[in-house]
Amino acid sequence: MLLEKVISVLALSAALLDGSLDTAMPDKNIDSRIFLINRQHSISRRYVPPDLRRVIAHGISQEMRQDAATALEQMFEDAKEAGLPLSTVSGYRSYSKQSTIYSRKVNSIGVKAADRVSARPGTSEHQLGLAMDVAKKGSSSLTTAFAKTEQGKWVYENAHKYGFIVRYPEGYEDVTGYSYEPWHIRYVGVEYATAIYQSGLPMELYMSGHRLEIFDYLIHQATNEVHP
Ligand SMILES: [Zn+2]
Repeated sequence: MLLEKVISVLALSAALLDGSLDTAMPDKNIDSRIFLINRQHSISRRYVPPDLRRVIAHGISQEMRQDAATALEQMFEDAKEAGLPLSTVSGYRSYSKQSTIYSRKVNSIGVKAADRVSARPGTSEHQLGLAMDVAKKGSSSLTTAFAKTEQGKWVYENAHKYGFIVRYPEGYEDVTGYSYEPWHIRYVGVEYATAIYQSGLPMELYMSGHRLEIFDYLIHQATNEVHP
């Protein structure tokens, strides 16, 4: 383990020196919880997240990565306790599943309209295993009306406490590439979710404004583990 950490510090330093810092950043590391994926940053058809598991919660399509699954379970428990039970609607989706969904959308509403609401294969957060579409318990409807429901308001105000952000906020379609999706939450960990929530910015803008801070966090993480 120690050797691994030494190597990661060396790799970071090397990246600083040779100018390839970008690829050392966690938002460029596909297995990182803050990996950024959108229309500009796509991933391979072969990518499958390393630690997928089934979320124990009410609903359907429930695979997520380990940490995200545990966080979602806690969030659902607390929502239920608050009298606002939720259902999962769509979690991990493979490249080929996304391909089928996108093609179906294109066939029904055309490419232009499909691109506003559906991700092309290789550009969906659902392929990372860190995203979940949620609805009121017993519903599988994903519409902006969710934002006005008690459940939708609870999700908006509380998701960050569990490490999730509402990934496609209202008014930032030009930045995120997607219209408002109050039901789509993305796991980034509590620290980043809280910071992003408080900033009021979509993930793209937050990340680009905090590159140095993220690098600092990364290097501290590596060095702290070398010298516990
Ligand atoms: Zn979604």
